[in-house]
Amino acid sequence: MTGLLLLLVPVSFVVGWWLASRQRARQPEPGCAEVNPAYFRGLNFLLNEQPDKAIDVFIELLEVDCDTVETHLALGNLFRRRGEVDRAIRVHQNLIARSNLTPEQRGEALLELGQDYMRAGLFDRAESLFAELVEQKLHPREALDNLLLVYQHERDWRRCLEVAEQLEPVARRSMANEKVHYHCELAEEAMQNGQPDEARKLLDKARRIDKRHPRPLVMQARFAAAGGDCRTLDRRTRDIERIAPRHVALLIGELATCYDEQGRGDELIQRYIALLEREPIAPLIHETVERIARRDGPARAADFLQGYVSELDDPALLRELIRMGLASAESDPRQLLARIEELLARMLADRLQYTCSHCGFQSRRFHWQCPGCKHWETLSWTPFSGHPPKEIE
Ligand SMILES: [Zn+2]
Repeated sequence: MTGLLLLLVPVSFVVGWWLASRQRARQPEPGCAEVNPAYFRGLNFLLNEQPDKAIDVFIELLEVDCDTVETHLALGNLFRRRGEVDRAIRVHQNLIARSNLTPEQRGEALLELGQDYMRAGLFDRAESLFAELVEQKLHPREALDNLLLVYQHERDWRRCLEVAEQLEPVARRSMANEKVHYHCELAEEAMQNGQPDEARKLLDKARRIDKRHPRPLVMQARFAAAGGDCRTLDRRTRDIERIAPRHVALLIGELATCYDEQGRGDELIQRYIALLEREPIAPLIHETVERIARRDGPARAADFLQGYVSELDDPALLRELIRMGLASAESDPRQLLARIEELLARMLADRLQYTCSHCGFQSRRFHWQCPGCKHWETLSWTPFSGHPPKEIE
């Protein structure tokens, strides 16, 4: 509400100034300009914190001329941001219907109206407006940005690619990342439509755009595995290990099938252990622990796991450790409890213990008065959520 009032203050000034200047134009005598009483009615609503009524009065007062276009644009924008899309559309349509707008102003109003339509879910109408703007070279960067949002929403990846190509020179920014994803989305579709050759071509194109992007590599690996081509799966996985090791976790299932079918399970464990030494990746730790437990028993798996539990402070790994400890006959319960205590101590160390029930302010110390919202006795003990603390203090 405060934001709305803040915006209405300049709006009311503009309306007042416009009314006064119109009066002056009609009656040149200085000092006796008569302001429309409706303006004071609007101001009154504003001062009484009734912005809705104030808005209606001001809209009623405003005629569109070159001095008030900006005000209309500000109002329409305000309505859209408040979720009053119908009102925003009315203001912007009203603006566009005028013949006295400069092309620049008309372009701005069309851009706003397009955004209203998107907000209202009328993507077809939004699309034709943005396309019109691009064609007329009015605000082409914003129009193309919005057109891209429309096509992404419609999952029309070919059109996304076209727009991305147009956008690059206009916005002077690289769209390589987006283009890689559009090609990958098209490749997914081609695979679903039973066109593996087409999918392969699209992935090759994606790799030519950015050969260090992990997604086409992951998809090539996955397609290879689906076709029983374990060698390609292996090669691509090694590429991914170099470029973005954590994405190897996306291929756990495929790797398991290929290695297990060929009786190379030990090799896979060695490979994961080597990778984890470079970068601890939680899903790969889980997979490796499972494999060690199956091969060497839970005690060995627990040994392997202990180092990672201290390093990652991840309750899921702690749970795994407890599971392995319970399954293992020779495990020492005191040692296990000591591990659990140590981990919990670290996880709880930097937590903010007090939360304000009124404004959400969090603090390490207790305050009788909340430093955030100044309410009294609203701070209480924060229940542990397991989320990392966000310090507001
Ligand atoms: Zn508070």
